[in-house]
Amino acid sequence: MDLQGQNGLDNTFRESWRNRGVVAWVVAGTLISFYTLLYFGGDLGLNDVPALNFDVWAQAIGLPSRWHLYGLLYTVGVVGGGVYYLRKHGNSRYNKYRIAVNVAVQVLLAFTLPLVMALFGQGSYYFSYLWPLAWYDFHPGHLASIPAAVAVWTLGGALVLAPLMAYRYGKRWYCSWVCGCGGLANTFGDPWRHLTATSTKSWKFEKVAVHTVMFIAIGSTFALFLDAFAGDRLPAFHRIVDGGQWWSVKRLYGYVVGSILAGVIGTGLYPLLGPRVWCRNFCPMAALLGLQQKLGRFQITVKPDMCISCGNCTTYCEMGIDVRSYAQSNESFTRSACVGCGMCAHVCPRGVLRLENLTRKRNQGDKARQGLPVVNL
Ligand code: SF4
Ligand code: SF4
Repeated sequence: MDLQGQNGLDNTFRESWRNRGVVAWVVAGTLISFYTLLYFGGDLGLNDVPALNFDVWAQAIGLPSRWHLYGLLYTVGVVGGGVYYLRKHGNSRYNKYRIAVNVAVQVLLAFTLPLVMALFGQGSYYFSYLWPLAWYDFHPGHLASIPAAVAVWTLGGALVLAPLMAYRYGKRWYCSWVCGCGGLANTFGDPWRHLTATSTKSWKFEKVAVHTVMFIAIGSTFALFLDAFAGDRLPAFHRIVDGGQWWSVKRLYGYVVGSILAGVIGTGLYPLLGPRVWCRNFCPMAALLGLQQKLGRFQITVKPDMCISCGNCTTYCEMGIDVRSYAQSNESFTRSACVGCGMCAHVCPRGVLRLENLTRKRNQGDKARQGLPVVNL
C-alpha cells in the first residue's frame, strides 16, 4: 500500500508484530534476555556456560570482546533498520540525509574506529557519545589518561559545541543525527514508533524521570571531581563514590542507568512501548539538550487553519507529543522532548508542519504576520 507516497503507513496497526502481538512479545523477551546476559552474565554466574558467554562468541569470530560483538550487532541493527526506514519514508531529503548520517556515524565512529583502536592495543574511544551521556568521560583520571586532543574534544564537545548547536538547531542535531541511541531508535526501532504513549500520565512521568537522571548525572560528576581532588584526604567519601563496591556511585550508576535503563529496558521494550523509552524518560543528555532547545531557535511551525485533524502527526511522533493539538489550535511550538525527527511534518497530508531554526526577530515577524500566539520563546 502506498499512502501519500509512503509505503506502509496504512498497515501500521494491522501487522501484529508491530502492534504488541505474540511476535512483538517474543522479540522484546529476546532483547531483554540478550541485554541481561550482556551486562549481568558475569554477576549471575552465567559466563561459565560457554553458550551464554558472549566473550566466547566474540572470540569465535575473531573479535576482541563481547563489546565489539555488541557493536557489530548494533551496527547490523542500524544498517538493516536504516534500509527499512528509507523504504518506508525515504521520499524526503531530510530523512535520506538524516538516516545516512546515522548509519555513517554508527559504522565509522561507533564500530570501526573503536575496533581498530582495540586491535592496535589502544583504549577504545567513542567520539559520538558526549557527557553527560558518556558520564564517566569527565572523570579527571580518565581525562588525564587519554590523548590531549581527545580530552579537548571530550570537554569542548560537551561544554561548548553541544549547547551552541542545541541553541541554533535544537536537540535534533544530536538526538536524531549523531547519537547512537537515537540512531538505533530511528532505524531498528522505527516499526514501533507509533507505540509511544501520548497520555498526560506518561508526559508527567517523563518530566520527573528524565530530569531526575540528569541531576543524578551532574551531581555524580561533581562527586567524581571532588573525590579526585580530595585525594587520600577523604577515604570514606572515596569508598562511596569510586571505591569499587557494587554500591559505590560509579558502579550503581553503571548498573542502573547504563545497563538497565539504557539497555535492558530502553532497548528491550522497543516492540512494546516504542523506540524512545530511554531517550524520552531517562537520557541525561536529552534532558540537558531539551532545556537548551527551549531557549534556542528551533521550533515546529504550524500553518494556520490547515489541519484536518487526521492525527497522523501524533500517531507517528516517537516522543509521544500530541502534535495535532498544537496544529488544531494554530500554535507553533517548541517542546523540550522533541528530537526533531521530522516525522510529524513528513506524514502530514496537508503540509501543515515545518521544522525551522528561526532567528528570534524573524520568528516574531512571522507570528505577527500570521496573527499567531508566540509560544515558548
Ligand atoms: S514533534 Fe515531530 S519532530 Fe518532534 S519528535 Fe515528534 S514527530 Fe519528531
Ligand atoms: S497537522 Fe497534519 S498530520 Fe497532524 S492532524 Fe493536522 S492534518 Fe493531520
